[in-house]
Amino acid sequence: MKYISIFLQKTYNFFGYFINEVAHPHWTNYFYWLIALSLFCWGLELLFPWRKNQKVVREDFWLDGFYMFVNFFFFSMIGFYGISNVFSELFADFLALFGIKNLIADRVSHLPYWAALLILFILKDLIQWNIHRLLHRVEWLWEFHKVHHSVKEMGFAAHLRYHWMENVVYKTLQYIPLGMLGYGLKDFFIMEIVATAIGHLNHSNIRLPLGYFKYLLNHPQMHLWHHAKNIPAQYGVNFGISLSIWDYLFNTVYYPKEDGEIELGFSGEEDFPKDFLHQETYPFLKK
Ligand SMILES: [Zn+2]
Ligand SMILES: [Zn+2]
Repeated sequence: MKYISIFLQKTYNFFGYFINEVAHPHWTNYFYWLIALSLFCWGLELLFPWRKNQKVVREDFWLDGFYMFVNFFFFSMIGFYGISNVFSELFADFLALFGIKNLIADRVSHLPYWAALLILFILKDLIQWNIHRLLHRVEWLWEFHKVHHSVKEMGFAAHLRYHWMENVVYKTLQYIPLGMLGYGLKDFFIMEIVATAIGHLNHSNIRLPLGYFKYLLNHPQMHLWHHAKNIPAQYGVNFGISLSIWDYLFNTVYYPKEDGEIELGFSGEEDFPKDFLHQETYPFLKK
């Protein structure tokens, strides 16, 4: 009961906070950050398009834009704010059973702030890389992940085109370990903005030549291959979210050449619905 009430209370608080955000623009404000990042990436697509013949308002542009707001606010922000508070409370209570305090969290809190943030960023990205691999390997998870892979023309807004269930899977699996390390929401704000910016760029119709940094950072040319319809691996390639280094380290990289014109999608996509409502119900109704 206690955890349910924490979840409801925090979720309710956040809902009020969200309304307040829209009403009061400020630099620590998710709502306006998402809009600003989207406009920035769209501007880059207009000024320096990689696929020159792709329309400014590409196929599924509005659908992806809709996904962006639904996922970012109603599930991602609001839902996980409740969930992460429940997990940190659960973990603290669990430790209290044995009369101990969270020692790792204690250590982390003594690090300089930038170092704690950097550790958080790397750790979070590695956890997400693993979750992304799971989404491709586990059959019932793949049914949800198909939404993200059903995009046929790539653009920044496709970043947040995914089934709401992915929010549940990602947030739950990553906040268990991160909550244990004692990271709080204030830290997640900066991470979330940085990760959103990188994710938006990775899906944008632009070319980002990174030189040797391509071994460290994910980029649009590499992520496009993640969406390619024809790849040599059965369970996908290039799972990197913000960092590409995990794919190089664990040998899941596939980047034969830079090619903006490769066909996107997955085999069997002909049967996949084209509208929001049917995409949302598809994994539950599929036999
Ligand atoms: Zn994927
Ligand atoms: Zn993607």
